Parts: sequence; structure tokens; C-alpha cells
Amino acid sequence: MTAMQPISIMDLPRIAEPGQRPTPTSGPLIDSFGRRLEDLRVSITDRCNFRCLYCMPEEGLPWIPNSGVMSTDEIVRVVGLLVKLGIKEVRLTGGEPTLRPGLPALIETLGALPGLESLSLTTNGFLLKQMAGDLAAAGLTRINVSLDTLVTEKFERITRRDALARVLEGLEEIEKYPAVHPIKVNAVAMRDFTEEEIISFAELARRKPYAVRFIEFMPLDAEGNWTNEQVLTGEEIRQVVHAWKPLVRIDNGDPSSTSRDYMFEDGIGQMGFINPVSEPFCSTCNRIRLTADGQLRTCLFSLEETSLLSSVRAGISDADLEQVIRGSVWRKELKHHINEGAYFVRPNRSMSQIGG
Ligand code: SAM
Ligand code: SF4
Repeated sequence: MTAMQPISIMDLPRIAEPGQRPTPTSGPLIDSFGRRLEDLRVSITDRCNFRCLYCMPEEGLPWIPNSGVMSTDEIVRVVGLLVKLGIKEVRLTGGEPTLRPGLPALIETLGALPGLESLSLTTNGFLLKQMAGDLAAAGLTRINVSLDTLVTEKFERITRRDALARVLEGLEEIEKYPAVHPIKVNAVAMRDFTEEEIISFAELARRKPYAVRFIEFMPLDAEGNWTNEQVLTGEEIRQVVHAWKPLVRIDNGDPSSTSRDYMFEDGIGQMGFINPVSEPFCSTCNRIRLTADGQLRTCLFSLEETSLLSSVRAGISDADLEQVIRGSVWRKELKHHINEGAYFVRPNRSMSQIGG
């Protein structure tokens, strides 16, 4: 076990003001703080078959018209270029990515990009039972399934869908494909909702081959109801689990990891804590995002974005698109301001519109 030292934001002096030094025109994709960007989240649809309370209103959101969503060819071109520029991990998300027709074919094409080391999917699991075989056959190697409660009635309340059994069946199905590994189960932790189930989730992590992770609730809900009081911190949860059965920290070898990972002392079961609110990990952030309508976002909380899709549709060359990307990445935000009161400004897109 290795002791990990969190890197403070203070350790990140700018290597140059974005306007003062020209954006690097070659070499690795870096921002003006010297962070190297290697992880890309791609939203392949903004639509969803769930309506999670902390994400989307009951009636849904104004969806991007089909003509404004990146086509498969456009996704492959932009992602292909980003991989050439140094992106090593791609995660497909949404909205609900399994709703996108042709998902297995897209996975197969992206998975063949030279230089790409990891291709994963984040899903609510509703369609997983029927799609698991096709996803595995297409070459999917990692999956995250979102699951916030193990209680049927609470599941219906939080997702506004009666679908817990179906999601659990989807998880059972994907277990049959050992090439899809690890299977991560992600639960958004909320005060007065999650506490009573902490041990049930810990038991799930021990009973099943799933790494169970808790994610702190962030101010990215479409209805703007987030308050700091609703955040149940990862550390609070970790302490409850640890008091039940001791956990030991494990080093997943990735300094840019969002998750603090633990294993039970007896070696049975893994848990992780993703604490963007209480313990921000901005200083080691290596992530960028592409929305379903082709906007490059350099932070979940970006107030600005760069439309790669409009450039692509205007006929831009790869060489020029590369410079657009480098310019956007160079201006990546230092950090989010969630804990800075009035200084925090919510982005104008919510989680499902960005691609979590
Ligand atoms: N629909 C898929 C799913 O739910 O897994 C993928 C998209 S969803 C936006 C990606 C992740 O973001 C899910 O794990 C979801 O729980 C999480 N999420 C959504 N809104 C959130 C919020 N306000 N704070 C923290 N996590 C959130
Ligand atoms: Fe849909 Fe995922 Fe948002 Fe839930 S969290 S409403 S499943 S996009």
C-alpha cells in the first residue's frame, strides 16, 4: 500500500497565461497549468429513459434535434483526432448512451483506434440485459453502471422508473462476459437518502465482482435544487464502512484518478469514493468532454465551450481542427468553484446535457 499525497491547487502555478504565450502547436495536449489531457468523456446522446431527481426534470429537457447531434462519422473523426493528440481513455456516456442506435458498431470502430488504451461505457443499466452480449462482442472492456439504491421503492422515487430488478439483471448479465472488466457500480450519495444503505452497498461489493463507488452530489441538476447540505461526503461514508469492516487504501496507479479506492482488509471486495465537492481533484484533472452536439468542454463546470462540430461541418481540415482543440485545452479552467459561495456560477448545461 502506498501513501498518497494529495496535490494542492497551490502546487499548480500557471506555466503561462493563456494569452501571453502562444498555445503549443505540437506535442502532448496540455493546458496552461501543465496538466496533460488524456481522458475524454463523449456524450453520444442527451436523451434518457430515466428521470433521476438529481439530474433531469420529470418532463425531460429540451432535447438536441437529431440534426444537431454528432453523427457516427463525426464522432469517429473527432475522437480519432483526439486520440492521435494523446487521449488514451475514452468513456461513452450521455444522456443514456445505450439509447443510441448502432452503439456496438461505434464501440467496435472506436476500440480499433490506434493508441486508445481504454474504452468504457457509463449506463443506467436499463437496457444492459439485452445489450450485454453485443457490447462485449464489440470489444467493450470496462463498464460503469449507475445504481443509487438497492431498495425497489427508493429506486422508483429517485429514477422515476420502476426498474431496479431490471438493472440488477443487467449487471448479472454483463458478469457473464469476463472481458468486460472491471464492472463498477456508481451511486450518487445524498444526505437523508443514502445513509441507511451504506452497509447494503458494502455487502454488494463483497458479494459481487463489482467495485462499488459513491459519488458526491454536484450542483449539476437541471432543476437547480442542489444545496451543500445535501452532500453526503465520501469520507463520512468511508468511516461508516470502515467501522463495519476495515478498509485499506489501494493505489490504482493513476494520479489523475477521481476515485479514492479501498479494499476490505480481508481482501474481499473493493469500494471507491469520488469526492469532487469535499475533496476536489482539479489539480490532477486530465479530463475533457465532448457533448452530444459536438462542444468541447474542458471542465464539468465550464462556462465556455468550443464547438468542434460546427468547424467539422464547415469543412475544417484536421490540421486546423487540431489547433482549435489545442487552443481550447490550453484555456482549461484551474478548478471548480463549488465551495466558494457567490463566486460559483452554475454552468448553463446540466449533467445529462454535458455527459457525466
Ligand atoms: N445515463 C447514464 C448513467 O446514469 O449512468 C450516463 C449519464 S449520467 C449523467 C452519468 C453519471 O452522472 C451517473 O452516474 C449519474 O448518477 C451521475 N450524475 C448525474 N447527475 C449528477 C449530479 N448532479 N451529481 C453527481 N452525479 C450526477
Ligand atoms: Fe438519465 Fe443518467 Fe441523468 Fe439518470 S443520471 S436521468 S439515467 S442521464
